[in-house]
Amino acid sequence: LDFEELYIKRELLMGIFEAGFEKPSPIQEETIPVALTGRDILARAKNGTGKTAAFVIPALERVNAKNPKTQALILVPTRELALQTSQVCKTLGKHLGINVMVTTGGTGLKDDIIRLNEAVHVLVGTPGRILDLAGKGVADFSECPTFIMDEADKLLSPEFTPIIEQLLAYFPNDRQIMLFSATFPMVVKSFMDKHLKQPYEINL
Ligand code: AMP
Repeated sequence: LDFEELYIKRELLMGIFEAGFEKPSPIQEETIPVALTGRDILARAKNGTGKTAAFVIPALERVNAKNPKTQALILVPTRELALQTSQVCKTLGKHLGINVMVTTGGTGLKDDIIRLNEAVHVLVGTPGRILDLAGKGVADFSECPTFIMDEADKLLSPEFTPIIEQLLAYFPNDRQIMLFSATFPMVVKSFMDKHLKQPYEINL
């Protein structure tokens, strides 16, 4: 399968090829077509498989640059991973005319509020700060169709899980959840049973 066969827009294909990707990796081949239908996904995939692009590509495909609202949230457990993931969004989305913002705890909240005065199409970050911004009404997920969790086995710690569940309440009911995890502990299974609707499961 080639990227051209996935029916993604030309501007996104350009970003993909400029990143040096020639063909979708197995996880991308399996995830992208299902993700584009809007279905919930639970993918078990390790680092190094191309899993980041597997959720970034369908998320970006569904972003409308002319709509200033936030259209994808990507939650990750650490600041380092947030920076890496936002860089993938920026690289692949280079020709889409979209704004990607990364936010994690430990930096000035005021700066985040100022940055959110402008259109932020894709928001990447750790749960606590994003819940703060949602609670203040600064980040608006009321029309955000895509909720992504990477490294869900680490995200769903006792500390983060209640925060993530509060965050979900700011999303529309028909939001798509994509959950990526290297392992499948009980916490991930119970989150899946509680919040995902007939998820398509991928095991690679
Ligand atoms: P990840 O599993 O998301 O951490 O990605 C691992 C590495 O594979 C990263 O350096 C990506 O840039 C690279 N990569 C992801 N998808 C592809 C692809 N389709 N073709 C070539 N390299 C890729």
